[in-house]
Amino acid sequence: MKETSRSRFKSWQPHFIFVMAMEDCVFCKIVRGEIPCYKIHEDDDFLAFLDINPVNPGHTLVISKKHFRWVWDIPNIGDNFSFSREVVKALQKAMNTEWVVCDIAGTGIAHAHTHLVPRHKGDGHEEFINPKLVKSIPKEEMEEIANKIRNSFK
Ligand SMILES: [Zn+2]
Repeated sequence: MKETSRSRFKSWQPHFIFVMAMEDCVFCKIVRGEIPCYKIHEDDDFLAFLDINPVNPGHTLVISKKHFRWVWDIPNIGDNFSFSREVVKALQKAMNTEWVVCDIAGTGIAHAHTHLVPRHKGDGHEEFINPKLVKSIPKEEMEEIANKIRNSFK
């Protein structure tokens, strides 16, 4: 019987597939500095940067520096949220709103990430965010927003 590519794939060691996923992963490349980002904040385990397809100004992603598929796979998951809270506090100040929503859908890039989105009345979204309503923000303005958020950490 002819071996299909699917059955070949199945025979690979899980570790091998995991390493391949990491090498291909856009967020791992950002962590390694191979892809630039509008960095907001970081510590040993987590990194926050502006989403390049923002649904609102200040839309930030928090990712684990190690590759995990799901946020729920992060062993020190509490630290993910403590780190995210620090970012949210800075977002509230910089973007002049208390309303910052957290979205952990796990879709899109297959690397544990948390969306933090500052909201305002009349921002074009309904009760929930419409992921298709991406705002076009020029590079210079993205730089300005990133700077403002960075300067809002205590
Ligand atoms: Zn990754």
